[in-house]
Amino acid sequence: MIKSWFSLFLKSNCPLCDRSADEYICHYCQQQLNNCRFQNPCQFWSGDLPLFVWGIYSGKLKMAIAALKYNNSPQLGELMGYWLGEAWLNAPGRDRPKKLIVIPIPLHQKRLQQRGFNQAELIAKSFCRLTGHSLQVKGLERIRDTQPMFGLNSLVERENNLSKAFILGKDLQKRRPKEPVLLIDDIYTTGTTVREAANLLRSQKIPVLGVGAIAIAEGRRENSGYP
Ligand SMILES: [Zn+2]
Repeated sequence: MIKSWFSLFLKSNCPLCDRSADEYICHYCQQQLNNCRFQNPCQFWSGDLPLFVWGIYSGKLKMAIAALKYNNSPQLGELMGYWLGEAWLNAPGRDRPKKLIVIPIPLHQKRLQQRGFNQAELIAKSFCRLTGHSLQVKGLERIRDTQPMFGLNSLVERENNLSKAFILGKDLQKRRPKEPVLLIDDIYTTGTTVREAANLLRSQKIPVLGVGAIAIAEGRRENSGYP
């Protein structure tokens, strides 16, 4: 209560351009972000691991994800989770189950300590707050601190980097859910990380519905038309 009362008076600058703003993100940056947004977030919702994605990883959205991760702006993660949840609720979903378990792709403990938060967890949290799905932050645990994927060239290198990257987390060790899982990550690049996580869950008889992400790297899946 006090915090929201305070925020009326303490207007801060836009975290993406540092101009003074009436809202958390200034009008100009909001427009730029909107240009990165897909009109159809379900365009990759097919195949064995369907992907629901908010926008294209370029321009202002790329900048916003970098600001979230490296400029210590966790509020941006909450905002992105809200966008993803809003898109999810507005998308036609005849075949989507009513009850879902939402699991963010975890960071390795070492990286979590460096950053102070897991961006996928922030996104998943506010996604669940809006959609009402149940969040399992400790659904998966990352046991290998993988190198950033951008530094690795071949598919073999990427797959070796991820082999046995995850184990079931405490939440899922206690109880294997019957409801399908939606994995949440910030960026979908090659899909190797989420596929590894999905394979582990499926090998434990836990159903996986698909993946939700804020952004997809350009040209990563066929049919990646711009909005
Ligand atoms: Zn701005």
